[in-house]
Amino acid sequence: MRARGVVKKEAPPEGIEVPTPEPKGPEVLLETTYCGVCHSDIHIWEGRYDLGGGKVMNLTDRGLSLPIAMGHEIVGRVVKLGPDAKGVKVGDIRIVFPWVGCGTCASCLAEEDNMCLVGKSLGVYQNGGYGTHVVAPHPRHLVDPGKLDPAVAATYACSGITVYSAIKKVMPMAPDEPIVLVGAGGLGLNAIAVLKALKHRNIVVIDISAEKRAAAEAAGATSTVDGSADDAIKRIFAACGGQPSAIIDLVNGTATARMAFAALRKGGKLIQVGLFGGELTLPLPLMPIRALTVQGSYVGNPKELRELVALAQAGDLQALPVTTVPQREANAALMRLRDGKVTGRLVLKSDVA
Ligand SMILES: [Zn+2]
Ligand SMILES: [Zn+2]
Repeated sequence: MRARGVVKKEAPPEGIEVPTPEPKGPEVLLETTYCGVCHSDIHIWEGRYDLGGGKVMNLTDRGLSLPIAMGHEIVGRVVKLGPDAKGVKVGDIRIVFPWVGCGTCASCLAEEDNMCLVGKSLGVYQNGGYGTHVVAPHPRHLVDPGKLDPAVAATYACSGITVYSAIKKVMPMAPDEPIVLVGAGGLGLNAIAVLKALKHRNIVVIDISAEKRAAAEAAGATSTVDGSADDAIKRIFAACGGQPSAIIDLVNGTATARMAFAALRKGGKLIQVGLFGGELTLPLPLMPIRALTVQGSYVGNPKELRELVALAQAGDLQALPVTTVPQREANAALMRLRDGKVTGRLVLKSDVA
């Protein structure tokens, strides 16, 4: 198989040739047809996350080994089944759940693969969708997109389930109670779409960019707040009709986390999703006194992917704007994303799509 692989940190991904994997046991080999280019690809390419205070987390220390073909928003066509793979056949088009683990621990067996302690995520620790072929460890990691646009369906594997899983952590909430989203980039617009599909009616979106706030309003935000305003917290209270009890921080940098923590009402929940980086110092007595929850949310699980695809198939989920580019132009696509020149999602389209 051929792949665009990261051979060296921060060097342009190179064309690499690796043996096409032979599916073993329950594994399924697919040829990639579509693959989204995600912001976390930039972190993988750079090889690190900013932990704040001058500290960084190096992905090579966490088991990332190069070269690696990135790409975790994958749709592909089944080309070969392992001897124990059941439930799919050659030629089937499937979304590939990429956040796989060891396959045998309690988390994996409960279909909470993203909570497995042995991360084997496709496109991070194993070759992903920037290659011509990809291996799904088990048929249960494959979801039928049905009549959905495969380029859009690919994005459900990461940006879709990331917001879906975060939203599920603040639910159930009455439809008119405010849910605050911090960040109106791709994840923010997706979160608005998912909340609307779930019939939620009060969505307050914070962003420092006027252009992104306008995009959020066009996507159906109830109101928006300029996060860079001196009195941003006051404006959040005004938009929410008081202190909000649910904030989903899709940026999760030092400034947004501080703002969210300060805005939460008693008993409120802050769900941290973004990987912008930085740190948050918590005044400890306020945690019990205000009975707050600060919870991280990392991607989602296969059950959530199936639920989200079902929601999309029901026709209630507005599709994220996607632009397809040829798979061989993966490098240019990655650089466009790094330089902030992408609205919506870039999705690589392979020659066999
Ligand atoms: Zn991603
Ligand atoms: Zn496991």
